[in-house]
Amino acid sequence: MIYADYNATTPLDPEVRAAMDEALGVTFGNPSSIHSAGQAARRLVDRARAQVAVLIGAAPDEIVFTSGGTEADNLAVLGAAAAAPEGRKGVVTSAVEHKAVLDPCTYLRSKGHSLTLLSVDRDGRVDLAALEDVVKRDVALVSLMLANNDTGTIQPVAEVAQVAQARGALVHSDAVQAAGKLPIDVNKLGVTLLSFSSHKIHGPKGAGALFVRYGAHLAPLVHGGRQERTLRPGTENVPAIVGFGKACELARMRLEADARRVAELRDHFEKQLLTRVSGVRINGGCARLPNTSNMAFAGLDGEAITINLDMLGMAVSTGAACSSVDKTPSHVLVAMGQSAAEARSSVRFSFGRDNSDEEIERAIRLVVQAVQLLREVRS
Ligand code: PLP
Repeated sequence: MIYADYNATTPLDPEVRAAMDEALGVTFGNPSSIHSAGQAARRLVDRARAQVAVLIGAAPDEIVFTSGGTEADNLAVLGAAAAAPEGRKGVVTSAVEHKAVLDPCTYLRSKGHSLTLLSVDRDGRVDLAALEDVVKRDVALVSLMLANNDTGTIQPVAEVAQVAQARGALVHSDAVQAAGKLPIDVNKLGVTLLSFSSHKIHGPKGAGALFVRYGAHLAPLVHGGRQERTLRPGTENVPAIVGFGKACELARMRLEADARRVAELRDHFEKQLLTRVSGVRINGGCARLPNTSNMAFAGLDGEAITINLDMLGMAVSTGAACSSVDKTPSHVLVAMGQSAAEARSSVRFSFGRDNSDEEIERAIRLVVQAVQLLREVRS
């Protein structure tokens, strides 16, 4: 099986698994216990917090562990809105966000907050000029993803943060797809809140983090203890946190080399398909994540291509794994101005550190074969 769905999830790194073993077995204490078994677990959590913080240029105390990207996004959006001062009820986000941001924003609208969705151009980038008019003094939060999960398009978060902060709004960025693929520095970005997730960077599922800048006001979603600065109470998932910490450390050490190599594989893959298959177009062609290639195959159904490729031994997707149960076309591609039919003809290929040169050559042949097969059936 050629795995080309790294934006959905990534395999656990063997070094991460080894690091987790200790917390799963020997160091089983509750990090809040004052005895030595508890304090040994606390030390593991502290070490992981430092490893996670370094990946994004934060201080360890600015990291709040969560169960993953979805919870981190919810805590950012709902927590910021709940803690906002009187008179600041507005929320601004983009039309191409992941559902983990869009759905809590829509929920807030149902509770009386105003919600503005920034539109994007054909490459999927938000219009900075529109921002000036939208971010008024009543806006509590501007949430803009660092990189898109479907197309890999990178958003101008630093520029948006400047405008938003000048008007007193908090700035959140969903960096679930960007972490481990792009260098991230929360201070250079100027964000107040930033979410990321362990299982997208070869860590275990069930762990993630929200960066919460010192001094930012946020209300917790759950109540019941003092863990994670009371922003996320509950006994810590120590093994998953330890694995997440190790995954962040490895991602930081490997980032540059992995990104360069994966971009070469992706670019070769795209170049070959563009010359060997007719009616292929790249969605979101501007500044993109190094690993992501979203391609439209004119006249074909992306889901049929995905199923055919699975039968031929290659795992890809038509978009976000969590949206794959509903049959609606990708809201990201539709927001980029595509018709429903165009959006449905698209497939997301997302590569990663374990893909070999040989796999990419085979992947090219398999896609050519799947497309040929489907076109023959249609004619
Ligand atoms: N945000 C983005 C951009 C994502 O791609 C995902 C997952 O695909 C999430 C949030 C949700 O993260 P998690 O799966 O850790 O809940």
